[in-house]
Amino acid sequence: MEEAIIRKYAKLAVCSGANVQKGQLLVITASVHDAAFAEYCAEEAYKAGAGKVAIRWNDDTVTHLAYQYESQESLCRVADWELARKQDEIDQKACYLYIDSEVPGFFKDIDADKMQKATMARRKKMKPYQAYTMNNIGQWSIVAVPSPQWALKVFPDKSEEQAQEALWDAILQSVRINRTNDPQAEWERHDRQLAEHCRLLNSYQFDYLHFTNGLGTDLKVHLVKDHIWAGGGSTTPSGVFFNPNMPTEECFCMPDRDHVDGTVYASKPLSLSGKVVENFWFTFKDGRVVDYGAEKEKEALANMLSTDEGSKHLGEVALISYDSPISNMNIMFFNTLFDENASCHLALGACYPENLEGGPDMTEEEVLAHGGNSSVNHVDFMFGTQDMDVTGVTFDGRRVPIFRAGNFVI
Ligand code: ZN
Ligand code: ZN
Repeated sequence: MEEAIIRKYAKLAVCSGANVQKGQLLVITASVHDAAFAEYCAEEAYKAGAGKVAIRWNDDTVTHLAYQYESQESLCRVADWELARKQDEIDQKACYLYIDSEVPGFFKDIDADKMQKATMARRKKMKPYQAYTMNNIGQWSIVAVPSPQWALKVFPDKSEEQAQEALWDAILQSVRINRTNDPQAEWERHDRQLAEHCRLLNSYQFDYLHFTNGLGTDLKVHLVKDHIWAGGGSTTPSGVFFNPNMPTEECFCMPDRDHVDGTVYASKPLSLSGKVVENFWFTFKDGRVVDYGAEKEKEALANMLSTDEGSKHLGEVALISYDSPISNMNIMFFNTLFDENASCHLALGACYPENLEGGPDMTEEEVLAHGGNSSVNHVDFMFGTQDMDVTGVTFDGRRVPIFRAGNFVI
């Protein structure tokens, strides 16, 4: 892919994604293999007025070696200075850009339990700092760039070079960039459209949503009272608008943690801790997963579900038309950032406080008291299909068709 268009993408990530402000600290997390793109992002950030750009490099090959050779104790250790650094970033009101190029299944040969313990130890230590991004106090954004191995997983019949080029094309198309357009203006338009859909859904204040399709999904998801459908960009308390996910096509809301009943069948594989879980399903009773199954990597699901109580309950429900840009490309990306935007999805684990009136100002206990969910996990999985019907039921029993045959009808 030529440099000019990649620079355009870097500018979009920094300006429409993280929307770094004059004098602000931008922290970029990137793989050493994506150094060129990270450097473009740093340059565009300084040009946009960033006060400082800090880059946190990582290398999955070295991380893989660590899982292979280090003791559990060593893997679970989080140094005090790491926590102090995070606190310092928050004190400076930093914003964050995460550059994702993860190879699906890269950690599939690593002991799932060992990985899970290490991840959980880290997340537990980091939990006090999670609210800064989870509650949108500071801006954050995730964008993706294609690594050669990821590209080959998506396009196994192409050469490495062709595959990477094809994945670049797909990513750029999904984030609305082409050689001649102004992608920032495209995103302003797109954000306005998503906001209009959310406004309509909010006006109904549904009691619950009823999902049915040919795969066998028959699920009633109650929403918390005073819920807020959100989509597209978010705004920090100080009024800075940003796009947490690029791409994004979803309108998402907060399920009531204890009022989800029925069975849901996943419609796409799930990349989880470096494993790819396939053909899986969950049965919920009173909001809790009481039964589940998977044709492949069921153990990875078991580990995730046993992380904490919140991992067995929903924290997000999201609506996306089957007829939408990413869905229409008909590519399995093996990456949640893309695949979740191709299909209606649910997430097990933490809710987003922004989906509740006054939520971002509440303590975790208050959000829980309103039916929100808390967990160190937030695992999205896709269940939308071409024949999905979604009906919204209001408190006075009115049944409003929201989706018919996979698409929005309101
Ligand atoms: Zn979502
Ligand atoms: Zn999610």
